[in-house]
Amino acid sequence: MSNPDMKLVVVGAAGRMGQTLIRTIHAMPGVTLSAAVERSGSAFIGRDAGEIAGLGPTGILVTDDPLRAFVEAEGVLDFTAPAASVEFSGLAAQARIVHVIGTTGCSPADEARFAAAARHARVVKSGNMSLGVNLLGVLVQQAARALPAAGWDLEILEMHHKHKVDAPSGTALLLGEAAARGRGIDLQTQSVRVRDGHTGPRPEGTIGFATLRGGSVIGEHSVILAGEGETVTLSHSATDRSIFARGAVTAALWARSQKPGYYSMLDVLGLTA
Ligand code: NAD
Repeated sequence: MSNPDMKLVVVGAAGRMGQTLIRTIHAMPGVTLSAAVERSGSAFIGRDAGEIAGLGPTGILVTDDPLRAFVEAEGVLDFTAPAASVEFSGLAAQARIVHVIGTTGCSPADEARFAAAARHARVVKSGNMSLGVNLLGVLVQQAARALPAAGWDLEILEMHHKHKVDAPSGTALLLGEAAARGRGIDLQTQSVRVRDGHTGPRPEGTIGFATLRGGSVIGEHSVILAGEGETVTLSHSATDRSIFARGAVTAALWARSQKPGYYSMLDVLGLTA
């Protein structure tokens, strides 16, 4: 007998990703929207979640009571803000449900809270939930291993819409981590996040980041390996936010049958080495 539809809560329901998640849940088999949550004081509280997402009425009214929503659900899809995701991770652990976290810009202290919550909840977190970017990460790791740091400089370029609040993007950092794994180095100590003024020559072996912001760009990433006389570029373009939302729903369905723990999209997609 097949499982009944998985009941999912969307937090940050009125946001760019929140609205996309509501439409994606509506379109995908095996899942159903059980609640939609926004922050207290939001003008969207009490409004129909389907109408906000452009679907027409669903009868699910946006609430600011996440715990009540979580105890009646099997999973929560969370693309909000770091402080909110930390709060939701505690509540998801209490309710012992799946917590899919797409929020970026989280600090090491936030990560520690997610890891603690993952003792009770099934947490899937990734700076990018799309199949294409996660595959790109695997390819970047291979390229960084194959093309040695002595002779091949590695730079990561990204562009996003003008409303984005964190930099570099979670995806750029995901790709940087993949490159660092390939090179066997620590990204924290070996990355150059900003260049300005008289910087001197490029330190060998570092991973450089460049951030562009503007317009409505959903997400452009390039990993450039620059050698003497040749350049290799690996890139990804996101043209529709539904790629992240479909990945998040796939992650929730996958995590439904897992033990409590802290997982990534590589685990969900079976792309771990
Ligand atoms: P957004 O600002 O449009 O939406 C965020 C929503 O969260 C807002 O509606 C806000 O009111 C709500 N929110 C904030 N605090 C809340 C709280 N305490 N309770 C309930 N709701 C709360 O932003 P966005 O473009 O949708 O992006 C959201 C996050 O997702 C960002 O961190 C972004 O970088 C990330 N993101 C990740 C991926 C991925 O694949 N991992 C893809 C796209 C975006």
